[in-house]
Amino acid sequence: MENLVYVDGKFVPTSEAKITVFDHGLLYGDGVFEGIRAYNKRVFKLEQHVKRLFISARAIDLRIPHTEEEFGRLILEACRRNNIVDGYIRPIVTRGPGDLGLDPRKCTRGASVIIIAGTIALYPKGKYEKGLKVITSTYRRVPPQSLSPSIKSLNYLNQIMARIEANHANADEALMLDIHGYVSEATADNFFIVQNHTVATPYSSTNLPGITRQTVLDLAEEHGLKAVEKPFSLFDIWAADEAFITGTAAEIGPVVDVDGRMIGDGKPGKVTRQIQKWYQDLANSTGTPIYG
Ligand code: PMP
Repeated sequence: MENLVYVDGKFVPTSEAKITVFDHGLLYGDGVFEGIRAYNKRVFKLEQHVKRLFISARAIDLRIPHTEEEFGRLILEACRRNNIVDGYIRPIVTRGPGDLGLDPRKCTRGASVIIIAGTIALYPKGKYEKGLKVITSTYRRVPPQSLSPSIKSLNYLNQIMARIEANHANADEALMLDIHGYVSEATADNFFIVQNHTVATPYSSTNLPGITRQTVLDLAEEHGLKAVEKPFSLFDIWAADEAFITGTAAEIGPVVDVDGRMIGDGKPGKVTRQIQKWYQDLANSTGTPIYG
């Protein structure tokens, strides 16, 4: 049976889920989105994702025609309609239909709201056991002076350019630096290093304030592992004992190679594996119940 997608107030089969070619989400990438996971019949960190969606929308002066509570309920309904047990949910809010000019005032009907609930293809399991090979992209993450990278917008070309570079280099991911040369994030994941039993990640001013990132910082604190937010450079990665990426889809992905240099002993590190376990335990035991 076909999955059901929520489009502007209705659940319709995937093959009928359509928006107009005049939607400014398509014409200009004018919109925002989220990526959410469900584990074990519960939506993980639902409130945080809905909050970030609304913050991103506010940042681009886009009005979502729902309250945060309503939106959370719609996400749960989308999961129920698709019998989600473990899954991936993609809410998208665009500026809506307009004309061929970019002026958002022309989008008089208002936002398009789409919710897709399905599954996600992760990196193959072997990648988590062996670790990921990453290259540093020549593309710098868009600076906050140009467009805040903390907005989860439909404009991912900056990261896609980096991803293409990684693909050409046969790497699993690209690391992006900020405009000043400090580490920013991976193309769709935050970046961490572990040094002297301290976990470190850059401040979120140059990247997306990842919900997995925050979960890792919280888990570290809860378990008495030192965790800091600080700017760091490639030098600190070369000198690190371990490195890993975090994201809703990727979860905790060990990084063992950056630009051909081995990180630590070239295997997923002990601290990384510990954090993976804490994360899996939390993701599988908490969240908003989908079914009653
Ligand atoms: N950075 C970017 C650019 C992303 O797209 C994502 C994935 N949404 C992340 C980081 C990780 O964020 P989260 O942990 O909230 O999925």
